[in-house]
Amino acid sequence: MKARFWEAFASLGIRNITIAVIAIAATTAALATGFYALYSSVKESISLRGEISAREFSKSFDEYLLTGLNTIKMTSYTVDTMLRNRLTPAEIEKFLKMESENIKNTLDSDSTGLYGLINDVYVDGSDWVPGSDFNPRERPWYLETMANKTDITFVKPYVDMQTGTAMMTITGLLEDGQSIVAIDVSLREVQEITEHIGDAAEGGIGMVLDNEGGVVAHTDRSQVKHDYLKENGTLGSLIARRIFVDKTSRFEVEYGNTSYMVYAEPLAGGWVSVTAMNTAELFKLPRFIIQFSVLVTLLSLAVIITILYKIALRNHFTLKLNMQLSSIGRIYVCMYDVDIDSNTCSKIRHHDFISGRGGAAGKTGGNKKDCDLAGKSAPEESENPAPENVYCTKCFGLDSGSVALIPDDAQASFTRIAARISDASCRERMLQFVDLSTLDERMRGVNTVTEEFLNCCNKWCRTRFIAEKRDEAGQLVRVIWLVELIDRERRQREKLKHLAEIDQMTGICNRGTGEHRISELLSEKQSGMFLLLDIDKFKQYNDTYGHKVGDQVIISVAKALTASFRSYDVVMRLGGDEFAVYALGLTTRDKAQAVIERLLRNIQAIRIPEIGDRSVYVSAGAAFYRGDGDIAFQEIYEQADGCAYMSKKDAGNAVTYFNS
Ligand code: GH3
Ligand code: MG
Repeated sequence: MKARFWEAFASLGIRNITIAVIAIAATTAALATGFYALYSSVKESISLRGEISAREFSKSFDEYLLTGLNTIKMTSYTVDTMLRNRLTPAEIEKFLKMESENIKNTLDSDSTGLYGLINDVYVDGSDWVPGSDFNPRERPWYLETMANKTDITFVKPYVDMQTGTAMMTITGLLEDGQSIVAIDVSLREVQEITEHIGDAAEGGIGMVLDNEGGVVAHTDRSQVKHDYLKENGTLGSLIARRIFVDKTSRFEVEYGNTSYMVYAEPLAGGWVSVTAMNTAELFKLPRFIIQFSVLVTLLSLAVIITILYKIALRNHFTLKLNMQLSSIGRIYVCMYDVDIDSNTCSKIRHHDFISGRGGAAGKTGGNKKDCDLAGKSAPEESENPAPENVYCTKCFGLDSGSVALIPDDAQASFTRIAARISDASCRERMLQFVDLSTLDERMRGVNTVTEEFLNCCNKWCRTRFIAEKRDEAGQLVRVIWLVELIDRERRQREKLKHLAEIDQMTGICNRGTGEHRISELLSEKQSGMFLLLDIDKFKQYNDTYGHKVGDQVIISVAKALTASFRSYDVVMRLGGDEFAVYALGLTTRDKAQAVIERLLRNIQAIRIPEIGDRSVYVSAGAAFYRGDGDIAFQEIYEQADGCAYMSKKDAGNAVTYFNS
């Protein structure tokens, strides 16, 4: 499988593979760059959004506190003037009451009014009457203002036990450095702003921390009043430390499995507004887009590679198939694809001789007129070099005009080609063979039919039909018609056949062939005489004159036999010094005697210098088959053999006839 994969890819060629690799690499690089740019811009825009949201947060917070701050600034200024004009605390309290009423009516309906400590007297703009144990100098607003010693102090917020809302105090230290005016500001609205910021931060957190890391407002209300700088291991403590200890205002914090982008903006009084955006939430959409795009890209690449692989595989196999087909095709002089129903055909291959274009004949013109010359003339540079000794120009070439195919009439084409390429002796058989109307019948149950024929130059060829496609009923739909040159093979076959049939020493039939032929004649009820003969005292020739002389005697008897009988009689050597003949038509003793006497005379006339005047004698037995009834070879042989045995008892050249 692996080998097939690489083999197929290799067939694409180095150039195509390089182009494909570069294209894939370029696409991947372009996509990676695009994704990186997208990711960066998304990150940038998220950062920007975080910053904007943090700024808006601080702005709305500042705006909110500004009312209280300006009120204190204005009140401080007025009270300072009143003190300079030596107004009493009672008169100042009156002013504070009036101002408190104004604030309640115009700026903050929740306001509990202005109050303060003027020349050591507690004054209050609301209707609240402090208890006897109330000591303003113990209150946080007093203590923090005195500790702070600045014009304006944001006092650490506290939770109002009565209302349950977070409150804070803004104080103004007056010119005498002793008197203080103060206002309580409800942080309810700050909490609301914070919660709104938290919502807008998509899973993020909004909070306001005072200058000591205390939580003034938080999207999670339960966090209000926490002291983050005093805590450990909480998200708030991590953020507070980065802001107040590390003095950073833009940073990322990991808490649990979540990462936050944190933006801190300074507020009035050293407070800080904090927006912590949940990056996982923020990057959800861009991450999804990128993951989806990567998936789509990978899928596309997989599809492209699969398509390329399929194409490569097909190319590879087509190429291989073409090579295989063309190597098979080289055996054939011509090869056609035939559609039986439509009587159409197309060329798979045929040698250039057939079309009359180029090829051996084309290059050599009409000079090469016989097969031997044409065979030798097959040019090496030809696209389809002609098989050895293919066809002469008489068969296909320029001399007789080209044998062009008529694609829309396969039968006419094949009849023309068959008539042109076959010798007159085989033409009729060839024309019958290429008859497409009888082909289906001839190919019932077989996939191929063949016929051997002599071409016009006396070279043996074989033509063949191969079933290519059949319909459901087994009827032929398509076939391939081929012609190949088998001259050498055929002659070789004939030579081998001859060698197998002939007794090498005498040149007459050997026992196997002779027996076979006689059996055939007997089964065809061909009447005749079966004559068996054995050389008398043959051993003596061997013993006296040697085997070579013995051989001479055997060869001489064989010659006498062939000379005495007709060419269509079967003359064979059974082995050793034994011979047999089946002489056709000799059915009576009278007729046979004349022939046998001629034979005996011929044997008598044998002269071999080594043996001098010595004559060769034989003993014979004869049996007749008169064409009536059935007789096997073995039976007639035994009849004649019995007679020959009888003859041996008599002196030389005795002949005994069976039952006659
Ligand atoms: P008979 O008169 O009874 O036929 O006696 P014979 O000597 O002819 O005896 P037989 O026919 O049995 O002898 C055949 C001998 O022929 C035996 C064998 O050695 C010899 N022989 C067989 N084949 C050949 C051969 O190809 N060449 C030679 N030189 N001798 C052969
Ligand atoms: Mg003998």
